[in-house]
Amino acid sequence: MAEQQPSPLSAEDIEAIRSEVENLLQVPAVGRIVHYVSHGTPVRADGSQAYASTCRAAIITGVYFSDRELTQLVAQVDLAVLNPTGMFFNEHVHHDEDGKSGGTWHWPERV
Ligand SMILES: [Zn+2]
Repeated sequence: MAEQQPSPLSAEDIEAIRSEVENLLQVPAVGRIVHYVSHGTPVRADGSQAYASTCRAAIITGVYFSDRELTQLVAQVDLAVLNPTGMFFNEHVHHDEDGKSGGTWHWPERV
């Protein structure tokens, strides 16, 4: 009789893999909602910031495909970024799913 082996993957590992596969399968298209990472205001002498870099909701208004190879499917998107107090338009925004640096976009995190 085969004995049940415990899974070597934790629940967190499984969730991280599921999330990564889901992101890889998603293709940006006009009208989809993503996150844009704001740059934040300049850091003051005392180290504080009026507004820190943060995720903002954004609607894709244009998509540029760099290559038809699946591994490099998307280079950039145009975005209508929705800030709490206003909206702005940003062209040719780079994708940064892992680093989430200021001025880039990524798929919304699951909460
Ligand atoms: Zn985000």
